Amino acid sequence: MIFRTRFAPSPTGPLHLGHAFSALLAHDMAQEAGGECLLRIEDIDQNRARPEWEAQIYDDLHWLGLTWPTPVMRQSERLPSYDAALNDLWARGLLYPCTCSRADIKNALSAPQEGVPMGPDGIIYPGTCRSRASRTGPRPTDSVLRLDMAAALAQVGDLATLSFEETGYRPAHGRVTVGRDSLMQEVGDIVLARRDMGTSYDLSVVLDDAEQRISHVVRGEDLFEATRIHVVLQGLLNLPVPVYHHHKLIRDHAGKRLAKRDDARAIALFRKEGASPADIRGMIGL
Ligand code: GLU
Ligand code: ZN
Repeated sequence: MIFRTRFAPSPTGPLHLGHAFSALLAHDMAQEAGGECLLRIEDIDQNRARPEWEAQIYDDLHWLGLTWPTPVMRQSERLPSYDAALNDLWARGLLYPCTCSRADIKNALSAPQEGVPMGPDGIIYPGTCRSRASRTGPRPTDSVLRLDMAAALAQVGDLATLSFEETGYRPAHGRVTVGRDSLMQEVGDIVLARRDMGTSYDLSVVLDDAEQRISHVVRGEDLFEATRIHVVLQGLLNLPVPVYHHHKLIRDHAGKRLAKRDDARAIALFRKEGASPADIRGMIGL
């Protein structure tokens, strides 16, 4: 198997040390394995993506010494593929439109005093619209579409095969099984098409990894829980399950995770202050 991985930044702000760690680690792992590291621009959030951030990503990555095959995949050019997958899932009765606001969802929770149950995709949806909305006719393209997890699990076939190989160490290592109960209770009916995007991070990332024939996904451990969703979608859409390698997150001196908008740690800023690419590697321990 050829080792093919990717770095998939969103052009919604500057690349910071956490991005540099992810990109350099993916690149180094590919080089060591004699494979390749692709770049993908995750710009489905057109309200936040900016061409100048995309240009800065290319510039910073080149400066760090990274190269990648072209053309670069950009999610904003992949909407027809996302549409086709949504049509397929809709035709199989696995999606339903949801009109709930965040407040509606909170109000519908059975025991809100115990706190809001959070899954990898936000609040675990209490299912208000599941049986309310019609699933026949053409797919609604102007509303939020949720995946009916119970129906999805009934169609995904052999539940024993829902698993992935994790080569990282955090928070798990080896074969990770994705259990039916945990999907129902800790993930639930996630949003696959957002109103403002016509797709979602989870759907797009799964389709794109398959399209780019990614064999190994190298990314931050904050996405470990979302991998359960990705394995279900791969099962439903008949896509291969790559190997996953979730890595530690780079934290600041106070031990806080570097937020995406924490511009203080922007690579561009270190560059301006005269740091070298080797200095950046030193700072993140690579
Ligand atoms: N675009 C995501 C981010 O910037 C990464 C997605 C992934 O690696 O699966 O956090
Ligand atoms: Zn709803």
